[in-house]
Amino acid sequence: MNIKPKRYDLTFAPDLDNFIFSGNESLHFEISLKINDEIITINSDTVNIDQETQTMNITLSRILRPKDNCVLDLEFSGKLKAGSPGFHIYRYFEQNENYKAADTELMTIYARSVFPCLDQPDLKAVFSVTIITKEGYQILSNGRMISRTCNTDTKLCENKFEDTPEMSTYLLALAVGIFDFTEEIVEDNFNSYMRLRIYTPPGKLNKLKYLMEYAKKSFEFFSNMFGVPLPIMKLDHLITVGHGSAMENWGLIIYDIKMFDTYKEGLLKSSKLKAAELICHQTAHQWLGNLVTIKLWDDIWLSEGITSWATTQCISHLFPDQDPDISFLLKIYPEYLSVGKKKTSLPLTRKIKTLEEISSVVDNGAHLNGEAISTMIANILGKDEFLRGVNNYLKKFKNKNADTDDFFGSLFETSGIDVKDIFESWTKNPGYPIIYISETEDCSYLNITQERFLRTKDGRNDDQDVPWKIPILLSTHTTGSKRLIHFIRQRTSYLHLPDNFYHQSDYWININSKVNSLVRVKYNNGLLESLLNSAQNGHLQIQDKIAIILDNYEFAKMGIGKTSQFLNIANAFKEEKNLSIWKLLVPRIRKFFDTWYKVPNVKRDDINRFIVCTLSKILEILDHNSSFEDDTYDKLKNDIVRLLALSNHYNTVEKSRKIFDENKFQYKDIMRLDELKATYFSVGLSYLCDNGVENVAKEIGKYGLSPIFFMPIQSLGYIRDENMLNYILDAVFSKETDEEQALNILSELQNNTLNGNRLLKLIVYRSEDFKKKFKHTNFFEKAILSFISNQITENDAISARYEFSSKGLHIPDQSFYFVLEKIKAKSAWISRDMDDVLNYLSQYVCSD
Ligand SMILES: [Zn+2]
Repeated sequence: MNIKPKRYDLTFAPDLDNFIFSGNESLHFEISLKINDEIITINSDTVNIDQETQTMNITLSRILRPKDNCVLDLEFSGKLKAGSPGFHIYRYFEQNENYKAADTELMTIYARSVFPCLDQPDLKAVFSVTIITKEGYQILSNGRMISRTCNTDTKLCENKFEDTPEMSTYLLALAVGIFDFTEEIVEDNFNSYMRLRIYTPPGKLNKLKYLMEYAKKSFEFFSNMFGVPLPIMKLDHLITVGHGSAMENWGLIIYDIKMFDTYKEGLLKSSKLKAAELICHQTAHQWLGNLVTIKLWDDIWLSEGITSWATTQCISHLFPDQDPDISFLLKIYPEYLSVGKKKTSLPLTRKIKTLEEISSVVDNGAHLNGEAISTMIANILGKDEFLRGVNNYLKKFKNKNADTDDFFGSLFETSGIDVKDIFESWTKNPGYPIIYISETEDCSYLNITQERFLRTKDGRNDDQDVPWKIPILLSTHTTGSKRLIHFIRQRTSYLHLPDNFYHQSDYWININSKVNSLVRVKYNNGLLESLLNSAQNGHLQIQDKIAIILDNYEFAKMGIGKTSQFLNIANAFKEEKNLSIWKLLVPRIRKFFDTWYKVPNVKRDDINRFIVCTLSKILEILDHNSSFEDDTYDKLKNDIVRLLALSNHYNTVEKSRKIFDENKFQYKDIMRLDELKATYFSVGLSYLCDNGVENVAKEIGKYGLSPIFFMPIQSLGYIRDENMLNYILDAVFSKETDEEQALNILSELQNNTLNGNRLLKLIVYRSEDFKKKFKHTNFFEKAILSFISNQITENDAISARYEFSSKGLHIPDQSFYFVLEKIKAKSAWISRDMDDVLNYLSQYVCSD
């Protein structure tokens, strides 16, 4: 760009009746670089443009001097579009009235679709906004409204807003509509006042005004944590219909109402957490993103990553039972590990060139990987030191732009630690490393080798990545709570073991204590065994147990480790009281169960014994601590009760039978009220083929699958009686059930390990109903694929596909082969570890 913008005077006149807008602008700029240009170039997607670069050239009559104060006057017009970024419009029906509203979503490069501008984050300017609309609408923009004058003849109102601080184009916001709102004024740490408002569609304020508490607390929390005042006087949270996502526009954050739960009767904890997370995240962006902005989209992880890290801290401030370190390891870390293991995963910082790349840059990866790396930096530096660096960064670059090096530099200035040197291998390499740990022959050194961790089908490492500089945080049976830090940079490194290390019989060594580094650790058998012993003796932190579960399950599935090692870990943790551990362990046990229960050679009684032994203790704990408001353990409870019931656990089956008998005539109320009771009830339902079941099944057939039926439906998936299965299929195929619901229930039926191919035969038999139900290609495909993906051998999958095809139910090769790849991996797992699993289970003794 050859010019630098200073100020935009903008007037917009949106016409919601005719779905158009017009406007004019005065762009104040100075000539920054070249003197001899007689052309200036700015972004636009409408007139005289070069489609490829989305720019327009304006030829001038004379040469402009550098530092000239120039003004370019332009007029523009455009369409208010539905369902796309830019200036969009939506209609909705509320309280028996039809409404229209319009607002903007300009991230990343959509400002140019609304007005001609210099549309990149490092070209900050002041925006003066005026909006002209028909009377009767409320108008919002980034700043406070300073005047509103209405003309009684034209019925048009002119709304003028205060100047914004210097900011990037993508943060400009306009909103026109009819809203309800609530307001509070809070004082920040710098003795200035912030006006907070929650705006909602008409009639929705009552359900959403609780958000004010989060808006207030998160603002106070961040203003304290970041230590820099914001140059804005108000912060609105506007909740609209149709926006599609959430956007952190400075002073006017916009959310889609779909992102909040407005349907349930009481507000459950998971809904509260989700809402608080949204509010915290967008509020943190007012500093990280808006006050300090990245120079180019290449560094998007900086905005999203530190913001997501700060969000996790904010949540633990709002909900003290949410430990930020554990939350990270439960939610973000497993996803980070899973995304990064693909060969196609991208490094955190990279050159982003095309407009297409820019428009899709704010994906999940930016949040996920960004939060992971921010957490690791905070772990290594210590949280306080990390925050000191972040504060320095915000002070130094406020109202300006910064990149990754600027951020690392700010951390270096306050901590004295060469952050760039340590973390560059993490920001520039794709993925993350696995380290293999063993002892040298004389047992005086640990041998540590590293390579990039890749999933099996992507092949092994081709050594193109620079080795990571991996901070090793060592704790052993001799260090106590003290941890020793080492850095390894070579592909193979050696670490001296303390003298007499092996002299104690209960020795152990933990190489990534508290999961401070983003790395998978593969210990040799002896070291893993000793680590498990130390876990049972209470020497390991929760974080360490989480890592052991995540790593070793993955290793078993990939053939790096043995399935018996994972089973051994599950068995070692059976006394564990911390429910977070179970949240990770149980879904993995369930996957093991679902896969191996179908293997003909495996004795089901052996698996049953293992399941009952590992899960019955934790169920007792859950049974005692069941609370209705806290639904965050519902899935865990469900999984455990189901696994135990399928394994014929006597107490679970009897309890289910009893609760079913007591409540079979009022099941609707149970479904709504008590999650754990409902689980028992639904398990009872699937065990007892009496009138109660028939009634429920018929009722579902009559009314379709409304959400309150979800629980019984899940359990109907476990039904063994063929007549009952047909009742459920009647419900699936009835016209009251929509395609998506029908697909859900078919998947649930598929989850039933006991049903196996009986269900497939029924579906093939009822292929005409099936065709009639799934008219849309993607539902149709998904429904068939759910059956095929449930097979455990390649041949079974091929013959299942053939059975469907013979009835005219075809699926394309590409989707089939995609599923087949997964089945191949599954059958490779089974044949690789068959003897290992048979051996482990047959020798398994349940010890108390
Ligand atoms: Zn964000």
